[in-house]
Amino acid sequence: MIVGLTGGIGSGKSAASGVFESLGVGCVDADVVARDVVAKGTPALNAIAERFGTTILTSEGQLNRGFLRERIFTSVADKTWLEALLHPLIREQMLTQLQQQPPPYSVLVAPLLFENNLDALCDETVLIDVPESVQRQRVTQRDSVDEAQVQRIIDSQMSRADKQARATHCIENTGTLEQLESAILALHRHFVAKSP
Ligand code: ADP
Repeated sequence: MIVGLTGGIGSGKSAASGVFESLGVGCVDADVVARDVVAKGTPALNAIAERFGTTILTSEGQLNRGFLRERIFTSVADKTWLEALLHPLIREQMLTQLQQQPPPYSVLVAPLLFENNLDALCDETVLIDVPESVQRQRVTQRDSVDEAQVQRIIDSQMSRADKQARATHCIENTGTLEQLESAILALHRHFVAKSP
């Protein structure tokens, strides 16, 4: 059984996945998998260098993300090609890692779970939800960014209402971390009871 965990920037996904982990539930981070499939020396990174030229690599042989972003921003064909290469690889790697987690269920943590249709891989989904003002406040406290930068990221993500409509479970994370912990514990009991 796979549970998808999502939420906008600063909603508390990392805090929530930390609670699942403390309960012994294996969590796979979609962003980490997406980075790992194009790590130095991987077949995918070699294919990217073949198409775009070695200027797409840093002097250390790592992917130059800024360059790649620029290329796919200016060419739909390049973007389509890249997605056709990476999406199946990322999906396969996520599923492999999820299957390696201990029973009875594992968690796929993905900020863009719905945007990238990763909820299709999940039996149930959990949205960590807070108002935008709380997102702005918590992210500016966590990172060295200003409210306008946080707002741009919020605006680039799916709206709260659309995510609420799509999620199986919604946890409001406006209270204390202890309250978040008890909400996750209640969900954990539900998933354990539901899993085959
Ligand atoms: P995300 O992973 O969704 O971007 P985080 O889990 O990193 O969000 O949470 C954003 C910030 O807010 C972190 O510094 C975290 O410690 C803090 N935070 C999360 N939930 C709460 C809460 N219920 N009360 C207070 N601070 C919180």
